[in-house]
Amino acid sequence: MAIDFTLSPEQKAVQTLARDFAENVLAPVVRDADREPDPLKAFQLTKPAYVEAYRRGIAFGMLPKEYGGGGLTNIELIIAAEEICAVDPGFACTVLVNGLALLPVWYWGTEDQKRRVMEAATSDPSGEFIAGYAASEPPGTPGGTANFDAPLAHPVGIGVTARRDGDEYVLNGRKYWPCNVGGWDGQGANVNLVVVRTDPDRGGTEGLSAVLVERGTPGVTYSIIDSFGHRLTPNSEIVFTDARIPADNLIEGTHGHGDLLINRNFAWSGPVAGIAAVGVARAAYEAALDWAKTYTAGSPQPMIHFQNVGYVLGDVAARIEACRYFCYKAAHYIDEHDYHGELIGAMNKTYCTETLFDSVYKCMQVVGVNSADRKHMFEKYLREAAIFPIYDGGNFGMQRRRVHGVLASPGFNPRALMDNEFVEFTKEMETIGTVVHRGEEALLR
Ligand SMILES: Cc1cc2nc3c(=O)[nH]c(=O)nc-3n(C[C@H](O)[C@H](O)[C@H](O)COP(=O)(O)OP(=O)(O)OC[C@H]3O[C@@H](n4cnc5c(N)ncnc54)[C@H](O)[C@@H]3O)c2cc1C
Repeated sequence: MAIDFTLSPEQKAVQTLARDFAENVLAPVVRDADREPDPLKAFQLTKPAYVEAYRRGIAFGMLPKEYGGGGLTNIELIIAAEEICAVDPGFACTVLVNGLALLPVWYWGTEDQKRRVMEAATSDPSGEFIAGYAASEPPGTPGGTANFDAPLAHPVGIGVTARRDGDEYVLNGRKYWPCNVGGWDGQGANVNLVVVRTDPDRGGTEGLSAVLVERGTPGVTYSIIDSFGHRLTPNSEIVFTDARIPADNLIEGTHGHGDLLINRNFAWSGPVAGIAAVGVARAAYEAALDWAKTYTAGSPQPMIHFQNVGYVLGDVAARIEACRYFCYKAAHYIDEHDYHGELIGAMNKTYCTETLFDSVYKCMQVVGVNSADRKHMFEKYLREAAIFPIYDGGNFGMQRRRVHGVLASPGFNPRALMDNEFVEFTKEMETIGTVVHRGEEALLR
C-alpha cells in the first residue's frame, strides 16, 4: 500500500488553507498589481496579502518547527504552492525565495546563525519579514550565472568578491535578478544570503561561499528590474561597493562550497517550479474548458463539441496530471533524502516547465483570437509560463548541465531514482560543459 495518491488529512488541510488564501486573499489583488507599470509599486500592492500569508504560516512554512517555521514537508509545500501558483506564481516565488535564503542557513549555519536569522524571520510581529537569495549575476563579458562552477579563477564565473579584512569581509561587485533582496521599499530585505567569491585565485568549485548581508549595510544599493512575467515578485540588481560585513556572517559550512549550495538550492526548488508550471497550466486549462463549454464560435453548439477542441484539452489535462505526479515524486525524494535532489529536482523542473509552456499556448489556440484580449487572463498565463524554463537556474545552462554531470559520473546508477536510492551530488559532477574546446585546440587535447 506504499504508492497511494490520496492526500492525507494533514496534506488536505494544507491544500485547503492554501486554496482559501489564494482565492480569497491573493486573487483580489493580482489583477491590478500585475497591471501596475512600476514594478516596485506592483510588488508593494501584494504586501497586505504577504502579511496575511505570514499570519497563516505560509510565508515561512518551509522552515523547520524547531526555529519557528511551519515544518511543512516538501510534499506539503508543493501542494500549497500549486494552489497559490494557479492564482499568481510571482507571489509564490517571493515565498519560495524565503526558503532559498534561509534553508541553507539551516543546512550549513552555526547554531547561533540559525537562531539569529531563522528565529528573526519567524517571529516578526509585523509579518513583513522577507529574505533574499542572491546567486545570479549580470550579463556581460565576463558575466552571467550559468557557469558559476567553471574551474577557472576570477573573473570567470561568480564575480562578486568578498575579501577578508580582519574581522570583516569586504564585498564588491554586482548581482542581477535575485528576488526579494531589495525588500518592500527597495532599501534591502531584512536579510540576504549572497553567494560570493571568497577566494579569487580559485575556480568555482573551490572559491565560493555564502554570506549574510543585513538590511542597512553601508555600501549596498538595490534597483528593481522591470520583467515581463512574474511581475509580483521583485527581481533586483544589487551593487556592492566596499560593503563591510562581520566575518561571522559567513555561513561556515559553505566556506569553499558555495557551488554545492547553488546546486542544492536550485534542486530543492525544482519541484516547486515544476508545480508552479502545473498551477498556471491548470488555471489556463480550466479557463479554456469553461470557454469551450460556453461559447459557440458561430456554430450551433458550444466549441467543446468540435473534435480538435476535445482532443487538445484532453491532452493538456493528461500532461497536467503527469507533471503533478512527477512533482510529488521529486518532492517525496527530497523529503526522504535530507533535502537533496540535485538530479531529480533538475529533471523535474526542466520536464514540467517545458511540457506545460506548450500546454498553456494550446489552451490559447483552443480559445482562439479572444485569448489575445487582455481582459481575459490567457496572456498573463502565457507570460508567467514563459518565465518557468528560464528562471530558478535556467533549464539550459544550469539544470540540464547538472543532470548531464550526474549521468556522466562513473558510478551513476540509472535505476537510482526508480529505486529511491540516494544520489550523492559531488564536486566531480560539476563543471561539465563550462569550458568549451573548439577546433584544433580540442584535437590537441
Ligand atoms: C522570476 C525570477 C526569479 C528569480 N529569482 C532569483 C533569485 O531569487 N536568486 C537568484 O540568484 N537568481 C534568481 N533569478 C535568476 C535565475 O535563477 C536564472 O535562472 C539564473 O540567473 C541563470 O540564468 P541563465 O541560465 O539564463 O544564465 P546565464 O549565465 O545568463 O546564461 C544564459 C544562457 O547561456 C547558455 N549557456 C551558458 N552557459 C552554458 C553552458 N555551460 N552550457 C549550456 N548552455 C549555456 C544557456 O542558453 C543560458 O540560458 C530569478 C529569475 C527570475 C526571472
